[in-house]
Amino acid sequence: MQDKKMFEQALVRLDEAAKHLDLDADVLEKLKYPRETTKVRLMIRMDDGSRKSFMAWRCRYDDTRGPTKGGIRFHPDATAEEVETLAFWMTFKCAVMDLPYGGGKGAVRVDPRTLSKSELERLSRAYIQAFAKVIGPDRDIPAPDVYTNSMIMGWMADEYASIVGEPAPAVITGKPMALGGSLGREDATARGGYYLTRHLTSRLGLPASARVAVQGFGNAGQHIARLLAEDGHRIVAISDSRSAIYCSSGIDLHRAMRAKQSGDLASIAGPDGIHSLLPDEIVATECDLFVPAALEDMIHEGNASEIRARVVLELANGPLTPEADAILSRRGVTVLPDILANAGGVTVSYFEWVQNRQGYYWPVDDVHARLRATMEREGDAIWHLSKERGLTLRSAAYVHALARLANAIEAHGTQQ
Ligand code: GLU
Repeated sequence: MQDKKMFEQALVRLDEAAKHLDLDADVLEKLKYPRETTKVRLMIRMDDGSRKSFMAWRCRYDDTRGPTKGGIRFHPDATAEEVETLAFWMTFKCAVMDLPYGGGKGAVRVDPRTLSKSELERLSRAYIQAFAKVIGPDRDIPAPDVYTNSMIMGWMADEYASIVGEPAPAVITGKPMALGGSLGREDATARGGYYLTRHLTSRLGLPASARVAVQGFGNAGQHIARLLAEDGHRIVAISDSRSAIYCSSGIDLHRAMRAKQSGDLASIAGPDGIHSLLPDEIVATECDLFVPAALEDMIHEGNASEIRARVVLELANGPLTPEADAILSRRGVTVLPDILANAGGVTVSYFEWVQNRQGYYWPVDDVHARLRATMEREGDAIWHLSKERGLTLRSAAYVHALARLANAIEAHGTQQ
């Protein structure tokens, strides 16, 4: 939620990866700029009868490998630059996973917690009315992101169907089951990160019962805490934007979820060993695995050296700045990079889109098995590339994705 610097920082990773490949200059020229960003001011009627406007964007960053794909976030600090940076990351994420998609992203600048349910529905429908010509099942396919969920995707799919005059479920993923959603989409981002970590546990030097700190307790944060706890790991710290809690013997997640639902995570702090901390203090907690699952740029030059974990699993998009990367790599901390670690969400979105087009729906075990196979396949490829070339996993992931993107750009021909 930054200025232009954010996009420039994202390009640092592209330049870094480009050094390791023998690329045609056309490739970088194509990937350095977003293809199109549409900006619309949405007007909606509020419950009190007044009208209010909200800035909204949709960026289709690059469609060389297929229709653009990426979530829509509702956030009070959203900016065009942020949307474009997130769409850039989606381009690389889809290439990392070998999904037949390019990258896109959308946002509305709004704090959805200040809206009633019907205002939220009107805003979601207004977004689709404004961007109906930009999106489409073969053009650009939205999904949930920060502060959006399956209910909002349901309203959006419904609005799109009424505009085009027929149901078109493949235009949007992360839908409720009743409207053509996929089993296993809800926890897919966390589950992908969990499969990856489990697959690499011994290579990463993680203990069988690791101490875990989770920064951000939204969809990804809640599910990763549950999946890791079910697997015998100990969740010692959790934070959200307002507070944080720490307990060396492990936090009872049912209680943490109840506290979160009541609006105050720290309300479970007290005599039985749970301490309350400031949100930022979670970075320095004693743990083996640190999981940023909130927003961009949370770990930066000023706090990266405080991280005590051996491994960082990036479930958020862009939680580490390039400066933080350099500090952690010097200190021997392994970072499982966002474009691989959190790609479970878009991978199951792809499965949902495939199911919508086939009209044939898979059992949850199939979704999990295919997700696991994809995470392990691409995780292994990136791991080997990093060892072979002496790169961080992030650089290896970018090199891996960039090679696929370059191939596709060249295959499209050179005369345009
Ligand atoms: N918003 C998620 C992401 O950043 C999912 C995108 C999608 O499913 O298209 O990866």
